[in-house]
Amino acid sequence: MKLIIVGGVAGGASAAARARRMDESAEIVMFERGEFISFANCGLPYHVGNVIQERSSLLVMTPAKFKARTNIDVRVKHEVIAINREQKTVTVRDHHSDQTFEEGYDKLILATGSSPVVPPIPGGDDPDVLPLWTIPDMDRVKSRVDENAERAVVIGGGFIGVEVAENLRERGLDVSLVEMLPQVLPNLDPEMTQPLSETMRDNGINMYLKRKVSSIKRPETNTTVSSQLNVVLDNDTTLTADLVMMAIGVRPNSSLAVEADLETGEQGHISVDEKMQTSDPDIFAVGDVVETPDLVCNSKTPTPLAGPANRQGRVAADNACGREAVHEGTLGTSVVKVFDWTAGNSGVTEKTLHQNGIEYRKIYIHPKSHAGYYPGADMVSIKMLFNDHGDILGIQAVGRDGVDKRIDVTATAMKAGMKVQELADLELGYAPPYGSAKDPVNFAGMVATNVLEGKTRVLHWNNIPDEAYLLDVRENDEFDAGHVEGANLIPLGELRERLTDLPTDRPIAVYCRIGLRGYLAERILQQHNFDAYNVSGGWTTYQMIRNMDADFSDNGFPHSPASPADGSNNKKDHPNTDNEKQSVGTWQAKQKLDVTGMSCPGPIVQVRKTLEELQIGERLYVIASDPGFSKDIESWCESTSHKLVDKQQTQDKIHALVEKSSAPAETAEAEVSQPVNKQNSVALIVFSGDFDRVMAAFILANGFAAAGSKVSMFFTFWGLNALRKDQQPAVKKDFLSRMFGFMMPRGARRLALSKMHMMGMGTKMMKHVMANKNISTLPDLISDAKSQGVEFTACDMAMNVMGMQRSELLEDVDSVAGVADFVGTAQKSGTTLFI
Ligand code: FAD
Repeated sequence: MKLIIVGGVAGGASAAARARRMDESAEIVMFERGEFISFANCGLPYHVGNVIQERSSLLVMTPAKFKARTNIDVRVKHEVIAINREQKTVTVRDHHSDQTFEEGYDKLILATGSSPVVPPIPGGDDPDVLPLWTIPDMDRVKSRVDENAERAVVIGGGFIGVEVAENLRERGLDVSLVEMLPQVLPNLDPEMTQPLSETMRDNGINMYLKRKVSSIKRPETNTTVSSQLNVVLDNDTTLTADLVMMAIGVRPNSSLAVEADLETGEQGHISVDEKMQTSDPDIFAVGDVVETPDLVCNSKTPTPLAGPANRQGRVAADNACGREAVHEGTLGTSVVKVFDWTAGNSGVTEKTLHQNGIEYRKIYIHPKSHAGYYPGADMVSIKMLFNDHGDILGIQAVGRDGVDKRIDVTATAMKAGMKVQELADLELGYAPPYGSAKDPVNFAGMVATNVLEGKTRVLHWNNIPDEAYLLDVRENDEFDAGHVEGANLIPLGELRERLTDLPTDRPIAVYCRIGLRGYLAERILQQHNFDAYNVSGGWTTYQMIRNMDADFSDNGFPHSPASPADGSNNKKDHPNTDNEKQSVGTWQAKQKLDVTGMSCPGPIVQVRKTLEELQIGERLYVIASDPGFSKDIESWCESTSHKLVDKQQTQDKIHALVEKSSAPAETAEAEVSQPVNKQNSVALIVFSGDFDRVMAAFILANGFAAAGSKVSMFFTFWGLNALRKDQQPAVKKDFLSRMFGFMMPRGARRLALSKMHMMGMGTKMMKHVMANKNISTLPDLISDAKSQGVEFTACDMAMNVMGMQRSELLEDVDSVAGVADFVGTAQKSGTTLFI
């Protein structure tokens, strides 16, 4: 029997070695197009990070050693370029000599793996945008780091991107990670990844979640092309880097199979049966290039992981050698290190269940990794998904200790077809340094069983009924340190005495820190005939959901957490340092104002309006994305005497906590009787009728007004066009005035750019760009200015010259006056601008 194997790493090398063990007499040839076989691709990021110091440790087998041990004809730098099924041959190109030749087979195993996806973005194919996939890739990346690269951008937040980012950071680089989803590690549900993103930030990685890369450019000067790259994001942020790593996903290397007409699935993976046999009985396929049954959803799915590739290689080899072997499918069990955290999962996520319309139940628990009294115990947060029959559909766990063990135990139970009820009774090793008498896996099984048996009725933060009475059963201090808005505190120890404080006509949603005291309270209440429920995972789960980076509904995750705790938002933005993290999360404010997406002067105008509704001493928590807001709010508070209690910047947001002071109100009243404060009064002469100049005038006017200045705008000559109505009334005019009226733009909407108008195209483009950036339109700015009390005066003389009448101007114009009037205004002003 002659067996040919294409691909010599995880699946291929494993198949080759097994085939030899099964059949000593078989002729086995393994073609590998690269230079290396059987290398440890999973270790590549850690050699870049110098965690695995010796490069040679990654080269598990050399071709010579492999050949000596297995008597397999290993041919590196040999690429199979075609499968000729009828002749049962493969066409091979020898990259040493560039010759091609045919090689016959009885059985063929394809283990061609996958390749990193190159996105269709400008610059995405730049040779210096590097993947980390092979040993040569790793050598290039490592030499860049060794050559003192200082800044790196990692594109993609899957496990490879996360590992690469961590290792580059460990080497001291300034690392930014860009991910288009609102979370890292999409194999987990978003709330479970929240502590992971946070720990990445805490370790100094600049996180750009929910951001796409729009282009990668190499800055050019007159003489040289830079060795740096600029990564431009969809919000126009530019990240400059010495090293750009691309890790946005993989695509199967299945073109050989496709060209040979083997059956493939929707995403191009080779279809195989449980023997790893393709649609051609003499051809098998394994690893990243195939799709196999998803053991939970019963659909076909690719699982690009090393474990399945190795096991499938063994099964394919057995069958190729005439022995029956079966691979049932995959659970997608995985584990990943994220600095001092570990995240793992097995089975499917809630997102997937939701997307596939599969009914499920879920619980969150947060037990200790081992006995709490033994040093080093830490919280393991576990989410378990199961159905009404007790089938385990998925587990996810994150924490600093003991995560991998709980994932592996549960994955084993899932593969064995065990139910959640059986997890409760699993006999697991226990001693204080390693576990608890009730291991977290037992505990998950017990809670899930309680749910199924109706001994506890759980609610989740996204399905608490509006009418529910929210009961916090923690201690006073815990409550004071933060609680869900509207919650009522009755510590568990006082509950029995205070039953009369509780409503009997509506559901009671009980929560505690992690769910245990909540369950005890729920049991007490239920036995006193209250309609009580326990909120799964309590305050700890609430914080994971509240702190998520973004709205996950567009990610297929049903999410609408209960109202914000402690008056802050449920979409907390994550600062980069511990210090900042604590303070933003604990800010107490009467009201919250989210002006994300608004551009200057919108945010300041909104702040002023909102503060008007607050009482003196009350605080406003503002979140803005406009970079200018950071300085604006400082100056605005300074000029209005409101107190800027705190201001913090996260990677793309500015958080400000402003306390209303009495000073602005007093000032406003004082204005009536006292002379206007010269410093606090501004006069703008709008002479130009160019769109950009008039925009600038109104942006300034709004900014000054929002800062408490009295603003007067004097419109003369071409500037008057900004005040013309869109629809001109019929007015009697002489010939010249009619001509003027006809030739001049009618109103703010029709003004043209001072430069690059290009027959209207330039102005249109400018308006389009401004709309995309959420900059107010000129008519909006005019109306904002008006509502802020900006005074509009039309120049009498210029109106005369241009044959304009009052009825042609907006109602917003306060007066038509001459230059003398304006001189008076200008004299009283601290600032006078001519535009
Ligand atoms: P591969 O191991 O990629 O081997 C395919 C081989 O086929 C390649 O060497 C290729 O050159 C060769 N080939 C392709 N076409 C031809 C052709 N026409 N002719 C000849 N040769 C050809 N998985 C985990 O489970 N845990 C991890 O921690 C983990 N970490 C990873 C970290 C990195 C940086 C990377 C890149 C991957 C990681 N993986 C991890 C994924 C895991 O390595 C893959 O799932 C696994 O290697 C797939 O095995 P495979 O045999 O299908 O493909």
